[in-house]
Amino acid sequence: MDLVIRAQKVVLPDAVGPCSIHVRDGVIDSVREYDDVQGARELIDASDGAVVMAGLVDTHVHVNAPGRTEWEGFETATRAAAAGGVTTLIDMPLNSIPATTTLAAFQTKLAEARDKCFIDVGFWGGVVPGNTGELAAMQEAGVVGFKCFLVPSGVDEFQDVSEEHLREAMPELSRLDALLIVHAELPGPISCCSVEGNESDYQTFLASRPRQAENEAVELMIRLSREFRTRVHIVHLSSSDAVASLREAQAGGVAITAETCPHYLHFAAEEIPAGATEFKCCPPIRERENRERLWEALAAGTIDMIVSDHSPCPPGMKLRESGDFLAAWGGIASLQLRLPVVWTEARRRGFSLRDIAKWLCENPARQVRLESRKGTIAAGCDADLIVWHPDREFVVDAAALEHRHKLTPYHGEVLHGVVENTFLRGRKIYDGRVVSPATGRVI
Ligand SMILES: [Zn+2]
Repeated sequence: MDLVIRAQKVVLPDAVGPCSIHVRDGVIDSVREYDDVQGARELIDASDGAVVMAGLVDTHVHVNAPGRTEWEGFETATRAAAAGGVTTLIDMPLNSIPATTTLAAFQTKLAEARDKCFIDVGFWGGVVPGNTGELAAMQEAGVVGFKCFLVPSGVDEFQDVSEEHLREAMPELSRLDALLIVHAELPGPISCCSVEGNESDYQTFLASRPRQAENEAVELMIRLSREFRTRVHIVHLSSSDAVASLREAQAGGVAITAETCPHYLHFAAEEIPAGATEFKCCPPIRERENRERLWEALAAGTIDMIVSDHSPCPPGMKLRESGDFLAAWGGIASLQLRLPVVWTEARRRGFSLRDIAKWLCENPARQVRLESRKGTIAAGCDADLIVWHPDREFVVDAAALEHRHKLTPYHGEVLHGVVENTFLRGRKIYDGRVVSPATGRVI
């Protein structure tokens, strides 16, 4: 064996306990008894209270390259990911120029990512008005599925779709057995609410993106998923009012799933300071009571994963000076912090290491059909592993993050969960700092 990692607390698919993980040629060869470590060329013993878990899979990351590399880029994004214990990320099709909505644009994206990635990277394609004819070719070339917006996305290159556009695209997506992931807010309930109040007051912004916009969008997607038998996934669900419809649809056999994000599970609208535009994202962070309903939906399995929606921009676009929530760019930077944020909140509510492995590793891997290689500690999977300390506490120092831009609402937060090592296919890539060249692969 090239490497054996053992610990008293290893998060396996059905248990947490002592064992040794044997790695050969970057793949997990076998999972054995803790004491069975014969023949190891290198032995790492992580039995000092550390947990060994599969590397995190983050299926919602905006790398923004090419075209807006100054917003993030593959090098900085994947370095931050490695430092945060993430070993696979899937890049969103928008904010890059070109947006990933044609085969040619996808090839441009692949060329941009080449040799720049410190972890493994895959790609979503996009569904925009008029590109149905491109979907098969993009899938053939390797995108893991397709994203669409039901409201303006914020960038001109990625147009939103109406029900009419979806009625054209969804039969093709079903034919391809492709997953459609949806930014689920409808323009109607947003445009009909009159925005009143001070634009640096968070409540003014919150009132401009009502729960109804999400609730109606989720209803529409349930209806269309049922009609066209298209697999649908709701990204960044914020409104807990939509959970009941989702639960009912899932119970009725509709192929619809949902994710939520760390910021909806950690922050509360009541506590966001005036002018603190680093908290702006769409849909918005809602009230404390809504946050607790989202945790209940995770417990029930109606929401089955937590992904970052890491969406940075140059700090100037956040208009921190004026604190104008309505005009600031929406998006929260958190790629490196997903594990400690989720763990801090999960442990407080009595959830287990198994729960977070499901939400952060296994279910995101399954979403993009990588579960036979990623997100699980089992023979035959890639040896993507992390060693982390669930009981160690730290204060987030934005300046120390690997993100290109340091502005994040998590600055100063006290979190539990410190990543000590990250291994990508059996090679150590993070050890308190990034210690490997860019050996990540394109999936
Ligand atoms: Zn996003």
